[in-house]
Amino acid sequence: MTSPKKDDHHIETRLVHEGHDRTPHGETAEALFLTQGFVYESAESAERRFLNEEPGYSYSRYSNPTIDAFEQRMAAFEGAEAARATASGMAAVTAAMVSQVQAGDHVVAARALFGSCRWVVEDLLPRFGVGCTLVDGKNLDQWRAAVRPETKAFFLETPTNPGLEIVDIAAVADIAHRAGATLTVDNVFATPLFQKPLALGADCVVYSATKHIDGQGRCLGGVILGSTEFIETKVQQFLRMTGPSISPFNAWVLLKGLETLPLRVERQTATAGYLADALYGHQKLQRLTYPGRPDHPQADLIRRQMSGASTMIALEVKGGKAETFRFLNALRLIRISNNLGDAKSLVTHPSTTTHQRFAPELREEMGISDGLVRLSVGLEHRDDLLADLTNALDRI
Ligand SMILES: *Cc1c(COP(=O)(O)O)cnc(C)c1O
Repeated sequence: MTSPKKDDHHIETRLVHEGHDRTPHGETAEALFLTQGFVYESAESAERRFLNEEPGYSYSRYSNPTIDAFEQRMAAFEGAEAARATASGMAAVTAAMVSQVQAGDHVVAARALFGSCRWVVEDLLPRFGVGCTLVDGKNLDQWRAAVRPETKAFFLETPTNPGLEIVDIAAVADIAHRAGATLTVDNVFATPLFQKPLALGADCVVYSATKHIDGQGRCLGGVILGSTEFIETKVQQFLRMTGPSISPFNAWVLLKGLETLPLRVERQTATAGYLADALYGHQKLQRLTYPGRPDHPQADLIRRQMSGASTMIALEVKGGKAETFRFLNALRLIRISNNLGDAKSLVTHPSTTTHQRFAPELREEMGISDGLVRLSVGLEHRDDLLADLTNALDRI
């Protein structure tokens, strides 16, 4: 349960202290309330709590002190009035979208989405009578043209996974609002450190906390953020009644992860920038896309919309699948995984893993070739990473 608080400290300070409600024991680290339920002093107290006439907790599917602390810290980070944590990023995306629509409504979403997010809007929502139109997120005319009288919600992700394309959040929010619809932004790749969708006009922001918020590859988690009104009228009841709740243990790990997020993400981004510059133009690479380079096709929009670049680099290896697999298999330090945002550097081959289920034409439409490799830069020394990458490229 979050409420906007006046706090003039810098965000790094707030990420260490926000939401810490010490017990009478005076513990330094945040307490972990690993409990399903709570007991009441009397039958009258239980009755009042169920009537919402008395503050306090009743059941951890609804709320829990450790989960509350994580939600408060996330809300402070995002500059949101309210936050709700979920068991995974996909639970956050699904809850955020499903809770905004009903049969007969229509959703517009960008085509370049994390695979499961695309399944939610393209396959799941239509099963319940909610239409969906997919557009090229970079093309504002397509967003405008997709609007119907029954359009209720827009959904996008930027920078996109895995191509690192940028969608203009302010412009799309404007189109959504003119149509009487809301905009939900999946902000995983930018992190709250580098991009603030609510300030740019979005109504809702979702995260997979599994990525940079944990940052050390341990727990799944998700977060939905927005105004108190948005969370309470749209999202709250869906979460309480359907139960995609996060474990208090995972919320505690993620809460502690937030304390070090700025340090980690700044270092990982600096290393990613160094690697992108060092590898740019490499003879074994067809293309290298990095949001921090001036040659990114949307460099102007990046400057307007983001306050930092990315921990992610998109590489396109010359040749095809065979050459790319040779490169991936020759890496020694950087490991093959579908995850990202970890302290350990990881590479993904989207066309054979995360985006495998899409037909080749659809992958091409999303810019996912057989040579595309997504690199998530970790906390290793930059020169060890560069040596690993250049050695592996030489082995092709
Ligand atoms: C990982 C990810 C998700 C899903 O999050 P989970 O925690 O794995 O459920 C959603 N969107 C994006 C952009 C992601 O990277």
